[in-house]
Parts: sequence; C-alpha cells; structure tokens
Amino acid sequence: MSAPNQPVTQLLAALAGAIVQGGIRVVDLTVPLEPATPTIQLPPPFAPSKPFSLEEISRYDERGPAWYWNNIACGEHTGTHFDAPIHWVTGKDYPNNATHNIPVERFIGPACVIDVAAEAKANPDFLLTREIVEEWERRHGRIPTHAWVLIRTDWSHRKAAKEFLNAGPDGSHTPGFHPQCVPFLAKERDILGVGVETVGTDAGQAHGFDPMFPCHTIMHGSNRFGLASLTNLDKLPPTGAIVIAPPLKIINGSGSPLRVLALVPA
Ligand code: MN
Repeated sequence: MSAPNQPVTQLLAALAGAIVQGGIRVVDLTVPLEPATPTIQLPPPFAPSKPFSLEEISRYDERGPAWYWNNIACGEHTGTHFDAPIHWVTGKDYPNNATHNIPVERFIGPACVIDVAAEAKANPDFLLTREIVEEWERRHGRIPTHAWVLIRTDWSHRKAAKEFLNAGPDGSHTPGFHPQCVPFLAKERDILGVGVETVGTDAGQAHGFDPMFPCHTIMHGSNRFGLASLTNLDKLPPTGAIVIAPPLKIINGSGSPLRVLALVPA
C-alpha cells in the first residue's frame, strides 16, 4: 500500500465520528421483507416471480438446540431490490453487468430526490417529465456524476398490497418516468441509476409506452441501475444525502433484494 492520503484519512475519520455522534443520520430506505411483501405481477403467458418465503430450519429445539436459522426463497426482484443491466435484453451484452461483477464503487453515490408526491397523489399514473427534472436542476443544481436519482412519490405509504400494486383490468396504475425523461437522465446525465417507491422502476402503464418499459429499456441499455420499492424518501433532502445500495453478490444475478441506506446531514 502507498502512504495514506492524509485529507482522505481525516475525511473518513470525520465520517465515522459524525455517524457515531449523530451529525450524520443513517436513514433506512428499505421495506420489510416478509411473505406479504408485494411482488410484481405479470400477466400470462409471462412466468411469475416467487414471493418471499421463510422456512424454519431450527429454533433452539431438537433440530438445533442452541441455534435459530431459516431457509429463505424469493425472486431476485422482491421487496426493496436492485436491478442490474443484465436484467434487460438491452443491457445483456455489457461487461460487468450482473450483481457479482459491477464495480462496487458504483453502488454508492449522491442522492438527488425529486419530490412529486403531490402530483402522484392527485394522479396515480403521474409521469416525471424532463421539464420537471430541469426545473429541479434550476433550484438544486445539475445532477452530479454518479448520482442516484430518486423519485419521491410517497407511494410506499400505501402499505396494503392491493393499494400498492393498484392493479385494474388494464394493468397497474402507479407513477413513474415519462418516456422522454429517461433518455435525458440516462444519456445527458452520468447517473448510477434511478430509484422509486413503486414495485418496479417503470410506471404501471409502461407496457403501452413507446418504447415499452422505457426505464428498463433505456436505463439498462445505458448500463445503469434501478432501485425499486424504496421507502422513507420523504426523510431525505433534495440534495446532500449519500445512498449506499450494494446488491447480493449472486453470480450472474439480474438483481437482488438489498438493504438501502442513506447518509443524511442531521
Ligand atoms: Mn426489478
């Protein structure tokens, strides 16, 4: 190892101190993972994803007198989860596009939180446009390199699966990104990816957009990531927080449930 970089050493010591002393709040952006956690529902003929399940192996009993543990099972895209570029056909040929080989520094970045909670409350099919993002930038500054762009919709306040998925005969009605907004974020800004409070990064009606599922198609087609089913975005400032979102190191994983943390100035 080379000689330590003194300013960075001090920076890390200050960071550790501020977490201990409360100058930095650690906010959990993760929803609880349990069998009732809503998972995305695809119409036939598409194959379904398993919900989360927990099977007890032993609990201080004859199966294991001093220990408690469980088997778990679920789809990779269950609860608060990470979408890797390999998840979508448009991202399948990038090198280092799966959960095990994405460079780990790309899991950590500054958060840009765009608050459209009022709009999503008035209209469940609300779509974030490029104009709203540009207006956000006029107020808060340009989206920095390797930012996580998070849409605050307060959708995670809908705790029951029925209200959260909000499905009708014509599919789900949940907010997301306007198709013209996604190329702007993916190609004109150098972001890590986007994060949402809904079950997936695309709007509920995005199967009918042009292109279909623009967030998946263009974000992953630009080697960027997604975070879905986030919560507590209402506890983050528009800028100034850092988000830490490393998925499980599943070999060739298309994503995984994860714990997402934000470091926030107190
Ligand atoms: Mn997903």
